[in-house]
Amino acid sequence: MAYDTPPSYSTRPTLRVDLPTVRANYEALKAKVGAAKIGASVKADAYGLGSVAVGKALYGAGCRIFFVATAGEGKILRDAIGPNGAIYVLNGPAPRDRGVLLGAKLKPVINSMEQARYWYSVAQDVNEPPYTAIHIDTGMNRLGLTMDEVTELGRDKKIWKILNPEWVMSHLACAPDADHPMNKQQLATFRKAAAQLPITPLSLANTAGIYLGKPYHFQMVRPGIGLYGGKATTKPEQEVSQTAVTLLAPILQIRYIKAGETVGYDATFTAPRDMRIAVVGAGYADGVPVNASNRGTAILHDMEMPIIGRVSMDLTILDVSEARLGVEVGGVVVFRGDQLEAEAEKLGTINYELLTRLGQRLRRDYYVKPPKEAEDRR
Ligand SMILES: *Cc1c(COP(=O)(O)O)cnc(C)c1O
Repeated sequence: MAYDTPPSYSTRPTLRVDLPTVRANYEALKAKVGAAKIGASVKADAYGLGSVAVGKALYGAGCRIFFVATAGEGKILRDAIGPNGAIYVLNGPAPRDRGVLLGAKLKPVINSMEQARYWYSVAQDVNEPPYTAIHIDTGMNRLGLTMDEVTELGRDKKIWKILNPEWVMSHLACAPDADHPMNKQQLATFRKAAAQLPITPLSLANTAGIYLGKPYHFQMVRPGIGLYGGKATTKPEQEVSQTAVTLLAPILQIRYIKAGETVGYDATFTAPRDMRIAVVGAGYADGVPVNASNRGTAILHDMEMPIIGRVSMDLTILDVSEARLGVEVGGVVVFRGDQLEAEAEKLGTINYELLTRLGQRLRRDYYVKPPKEAEDRR
């Protein structure tokens, strides 16, 4: 994704979101799972890309099932996609969210008998209560019913009927590593649990789970990171999705410093020689982690430029001494793009965190395919 120096620029950083690529990733993952449905994970503002634009784009591509974490996220998505389309709230129902869940027709994921009993009490009182999904814990010990609770729920016809589950789901702990023994264990536990419940469509796989193959697909898969082009497995070369997001920041000032001068808060960087440095307009409030201080890089004209000094709230400083092409105020540097996974590894974090930390202040620039004519003229 080339991005030329703009003739006029803003001091505000931009997140360029390539919606045609999000759609293409959806199609590519869909092609991998055959008849299984796709339930798109758009929690955390669609991993920082913006759930309104991403939700609409996926809806336009035919996606009719979405997963968010909270009722508030669900309400925002409901307003974006309109009255049709199922929106599941992964964290489940809670008393304070009752009004939003019912008002926006959100479907709670039931993660415990406590949540089951709570939602039973709500659903009994309302006309046409929304359907639910039942989440079983198969070994991750995060959310989900224990095996004992599955047995209990399986016997309770009355509560099952009122909860009206459309899906029974679980979540994989170690799917990125296809050889991890826990994958098969969880698959077996999931089958055993499902056998104790009335026959219901099943869902187990996130993005990485899709690459574990057909036995893991069941009737629905729930990709998140793969829709946005983040790599999900230890074998990224097998993955079908492309990067859909780039964080761009403008150069605000260029300075020439002498050997021995320091840079930034706490003077954590001392220039080993005379240097040319660039101050760019994106900081930790925008999603450049403090952890990238004196470690991370940004791309300028296809070359990696080291981040020097401590990343500050709104600004980051780069050593651009080695840049060969023009370095000028208003020029654009790239913080996230194809190098997302490499950057995450270097910073001791994961691509998911780099995406979801993308700040609210970013101008989100939604790239939509240029009209056919414009394309032909190129
Ligand atoms: C976040 C989440 C997903 C999506 O995971 P990815 O690794 O981003 O594909 C699926 N299911 C559950 C329960 C989740 O919490």
